Amino acid sequence: MPKDGFDQREVAKRRLAGERGFVAPTDAPTRICLGYPSPYAVAMSSLGFQTIFRELGARDDVLVDRAFLPDDRAAIDALKAAREPLVSYATLRRVADFPIVALSFAYELEIGGLIDFLTLSGIPVLSTDRRKGDPIVVIGGPITFSNPIPLSPFADAIVFGEADQAIHGVVAAAQSGESRNAKLGALARVPGVFIPARGLVPPPCLAADDARLPAFASIVTDETELAGMFLIEAERGCHRGCTYCVMRRSTNGGMRLVAPERILGLIPCDARRVGLVGAAVSDHPRICDILRGVVDAGREVSLSSLRADRLNAEFVGLLAKGGHKTLTVASDAASERLRETIQRKIHERHLIRAATLARDAKMTRLKTYMMVGLPGETHDDIDELVRFTRELAKILPVAMGIAPFVAKRNTPLDGAPFEAIDAIEEKLATIRRGLAGIAEVRPTSARWAYVEYRLAQGGPEAGLAAMRAHQAGGSFAAYRSAFDENSIAAPRPLRVVGGRLE
Ligand code: SF4
Repeated sequence: MPKDGFDQREVAKRRLAGERGFVAPTDAPTRICLGYPSPYAVAMSSLGFQTIFRELGARDDVLVDRAFLPDDRAAIDALKAAREPLVSYATLRRVADFPIVALSFAYELEIGGLIDFLTLSGIPVLSTDRRKGDPIVVIGGPITFSNPIPLSPFADAIVFGEADQAIHGVVAAAQSGESRNAKLGALARVPGVFIPARGLVPPPCLAADDARLPAFASIVTDETELAGMFLIEAERGCHRGCTYCVMRRSTNGGMRLVAPERILGLIPCDARRVGLVGAAVSDHPRICDILRGVVDAGREVSLSSLRADRLNAEFVGLLAKGGHKTLTVASDAASERLRETIQRKIHERHLIRAATLARDAKMTRLKTYMMVGLPGETHDDIDELVRFTRELAKILPVAMGIAPFVAKRNTPLDGAPFEAIDAIEEKLATIRRGLAGIAEVRPTSARWAYVEYRLAQGGPEAGLAAMRAHQAGGSFAAYRSAFDENSIAAPRPLRVVGGRLE
């Protein structure tokens, strides 16, 4: 155990003891570690991660265990200082001892977590440094719908798109031969799987059979932000065309619906809270039937996304009955003109109505999500945002989350520039000043959005630059320097030697 008291085995045991639905794995010929480049609370809130765990856990021939990035920098540093390799939660086995380590990756800024995860595990960070006996590192997850190529230096294989079916192809490949090369050769033949070392022509994204829907979690835990919540998918994908969005209709065949009866039938008897997940859940044509089924059974309910133009008194009333104190809607652009430009199709009247419905349902707050720095945005747009938010705040207290716009691959706005950091910060200052004492303004960092942008738009060299920046301390200055000058040398890779990181 590291000297400062962080004991990864104790943390794992405590968390497993608090999980409902956890079944201790029995040994099996094929061992896979599912990893996450963020801490436990984030991973266990990910329906994709939970679904792959459930798919593998249902197989008799696979032992699946989980490993997570430690919760904070102090814990990561404590493990490094103690030269103690990262272990999995259930079997307390070193991550590097699993033949396959499959990592779910959601968004660009988790890249530092990925590098820490591999380093702590004693797995060479770069796939080209891995040898016989090292695990095969497979990366999948939401990032693959957009641009996972910056991850290619770290991945032996990347699964593009929906992996709930493809993961079984990964298992078959793992079982296909003894050598690392044989397994990689078999992986290369699995549809949707990309082997970066064998060429940079990524395959199209996979779509799982509709019969596999819905994804749902097998484990409920109180140690996540969605404490005690059973997660289940109400629909997959989206039929709309917002021009900045990776999940728009052109991605994986649009929206696929799950029948309310199927959703309600899968909710465990002891579930107190139910989280309905999907890119556009409020567009489900029978969303009120689903909500009614959940709340009439005395359960709380949460939705991952709400469109203001879909709300009515019944819908908002059911959300309130299901425990919502806050109504959260995305408006995504500062003005009517910009919302039109990005085909968001949300208007002021929808947002006014959302605030009014929330107030009438005795909710206490309206939360809005917004981007700044969209192409063509001017100070007039920002002024309109301030003026309109003042109007909204007369109806109900408003909290506004603001993120700088980051152009993503596989969207019509791919390639759009990132606005200068100074200009974004100036706009944020204008919004804060204009709404001081009127609305809560919660912006995310323009600097880190710039890092996200470089990774979202980059190739393998962007991933390598991020690695060097992270290993040089991970400050914004280190990232900027690495992206712009490519000037930071990579330190020596760590490995597990005799049970210790060397
Ligand atoms: S932003 Fe929402 S509504 Fe628009 S395309 Fe994406 S998922 Fe659909």
